[in-house]
Amino acid sequence: MELFKSMDINKEPAKEGTGTAEKVKCLIIGSGPAGYTAAIYAARANLNPVMYTGLQMGGQLTTTTEVDNYPGYPDGVTGPVMMEDFKKQAERFGTEVRFGIATSVDFSKRPFIVTIDEKILIEAEVVIISTGATAKYLGIEAETKYSGQGVSACATCDGFFYRGKDVAVVGGGDTACEEASYLAGLARKVYMIVRRDELRASKAMQERVFGIENIEILWEHETVDLFGENGVEGAHLVKRKGNPDEEMVDIKIDGFFLAIGHTPNSDIFKPYLDTDEVGYIKTIPGTSKTNVPGVFACGDVQDPVYRQAVTAAGTGCMAAIDSERWLAENKG
Ligand code: NDP
Repeated sequence: MELFKSMDINKEPAKEGTGTAEKVKCLIIGSGPAGYTAAIYAARANLNPVMYTGLQMGGQLTTTTEVDNYPGYPDGVTGPVMMEDFKKQAERFGTEVRFGIATSVDFSKRPFIVTIDEKILIEAEVVIISTGATAKYLGIEAETKYSGQGVSACATCDGFFYRGKDVAVVGGGDTACEEASYLAGLARKVYMIVRRDELRASKAMQERVFGIENIEILWEHETVDLFGENGVEGAHLVKRKGNPDEEMVDIKIDGFFLAIGHTPNSDIFKPYLDTDEVGYIKTIPGTSKTNVPGVFACGDVQDPVYRQAVTAAGTGCMAAIDSERWLAENKG
């Protein structure tokens, strides 16, 4: 994270409160792998992209440590360094990267209007949305204390570090089941900490976890704290919290994985764009096209299933190609 704070960002435009909009051909909102890949392709196609990074420049990867599953880094790379590489590559072809948060949009007419930081108006011929999603956390202090030291919200990213160890996954949905199954193939033992006496996951997913020997489901358990001298060594749980038979339970674990859902960062687009019940932006299958022609979405904001850096980058590339073709077909 420090790395990003010290990075050189173009803070340029700012037409504060004048009501005059700056005209750009291609506006990219969000700076994760999807946004930067869209920027690389859009810049190389002469779309002169302008990117607003959002609050967490570099996106979710800036909160991970080692990234070992992104092709092209045979020795692994840290999330922040990888995202700095993405940024440099986008800038190399002329992307203008600016720090700022899109606070509202008007997609009712073209060109589209996007307001940045509640005051800067941008008029864009095409908009690429790559605002990502935010993993939900329980909200206990220990999650911050042990961030990168045993607490993770991505089993696919970090599971490898827990080979032969004991871990816990919090949640009872499809993601929790999928992450628990994945971790069971690496770890010695996987606890699933489930707050109710049933899983929310699909029947097929439930069957899958019930059939895995080294997964133990702790029904009606809630996590109240984590403990450990050097990183996570265990969790304090409460069984049947608030009931007369409430019971404190401690488990010894090396890794604590959150899988209680993600929140797609799509709120400001909802008045114009179709989203699913959770808020993921709907795209036409096999494309990055939203229901508003000229507005494209890529990365985790439109992907409830894969949520990987490499899939986000792939859809970022699609969004830039779709934008370029759309602009060519809709000249003037
Ligand atoms: P869900 O919202 O479906 O499930 C969240 C789970 O976390 C629930 O079991 C919920 O408990 C639990 N939870 C939420 N908040 C807390 C909390 N504060 N403390 C403890 N537990 C909590 O999220 P998912 O990420 O699992 O799935 C999101 C969507 O993506 C779903 O539609 C899912 O089907 C889909 N998906 C599909 C996959 C696939 O098809 N392969 C893979 C992954 C996701 P409770 O049930 O009590 O509310």
